[in-house]
Amino acid sequence: MKKEEIELIKDGKRLDGRGFEELRPIKIEVGVLKRADGSCYFELGDNKVIAAVYGPREMHPRHFQDAKMAVIKYRYNMAPFSVDDRKRPGPDRRSVEISKVSREALDPVIIKEYYPKTAIDVYVEVLQSDAGTRTAGINAASVALAAAGIPMKDLVSSVAVGKINGEVVLDLNAVEDNYGEGDMPVAMVARTNTITMLQMDGRFSQEEFERGLKLAATACSKIYELQRTALLERYSESIGEGEA
Ligand code: ADP
Repeated sequence: MKKEEIELIKDGKRLDGRGFEELRPIKIEVGVLKRADGSCYFELGDNKVIAAVYGPREMHPRHFQDAKMAVIKYRYNMAPFSVDDRKRPGPDRRSVEISKVSREALDPVIIKEYYPKTAIDVYVEVLQSDAGTRTAGINAASVALAAAGIPMKDLVSSVAVGKINGEVVLDLNAVEDNYGEGDMPVAMVARTNTITMLQMDGRFSQEEFERGLKLAATACSKIYELQRTALLERYSESIGEGEA
C-alpha cells in the first residue's frame, strides 16, 4: 500500500528544524525508582521511557532456570496514555516482538555465567511515544542494568535511521516514521562497533544502507558518552553522600 506523500524536508531542514544527521535532545537520569535494583529514565525528544531492573534473583518457576547462567527477561510495555489515541493495555504482537529484539540486543554484553539459575528482569515502560521507543528503551535498559550492578562487558547504545523524501536521516520522529519510506533501528556496542540489533522496515539501496549504518554508529558513540556520563554523575554523587 502506498502511503500518502507529504513534504518532510523544507529548505534542507526537517519539519522539526533538525538537520539530516541530528539527534533529538536526550536526557538521562539514573536511579529514579527506589524499589528497583537499577533504573533509568530516558528522554529522546518526545519519547519518555523508564527502565527498571530486578535481580539477579532466583528464577521461578524452576523449570525455566538455566543451570549454567542467568536468564534475561525483558518486557517492553506502552502505557495506554503514551500515544495519541488510547492504546489498549496489555501485550500485543508489536510489544512481544520489541521485547524479544531488545532482549537480544542486550544479551551479548551481560556476563550471565556469574549467576546460574537466576533471572534478571528488565521492565521498560513507555510513558510517551514519538517513534524510536524501542531504541530509547534499550538505551535506558542498558544504563539500568549497569546501575543494578549487573556485570557487563560494555554498554549498548541504540538509535534508528530512516529515509524521508529520498534522504537518509538520523532518528526519525513519529511524523517521519509514519510518512517516510524506511526505518532502520540499530543497537550496538559503540566502542567496538559490534551490532547487536538491526531491523529494517521499507527499502534502502545498498549505498543508503551503508550510509545509514555509519550515521547510526556515530550517533551511538554520542549516546554512549551520555549514558556513561549519567552513570558516572550518579555514582560520584553517591560517593559524596556516603562521605557526608
Ligand atoms: P518505535 O517506537 O520503536 O519506533 P514503531 O516503529 O513500531 O516502534 O512505532 C513508531 C511509533 O508509532 C511509536 O513510537 C508510536 O509513537 C506509534 N505507535 C506504535 N504503536 C502504536 C499504537 N498501538 N497506537 C498508536 N501509536 C502507536
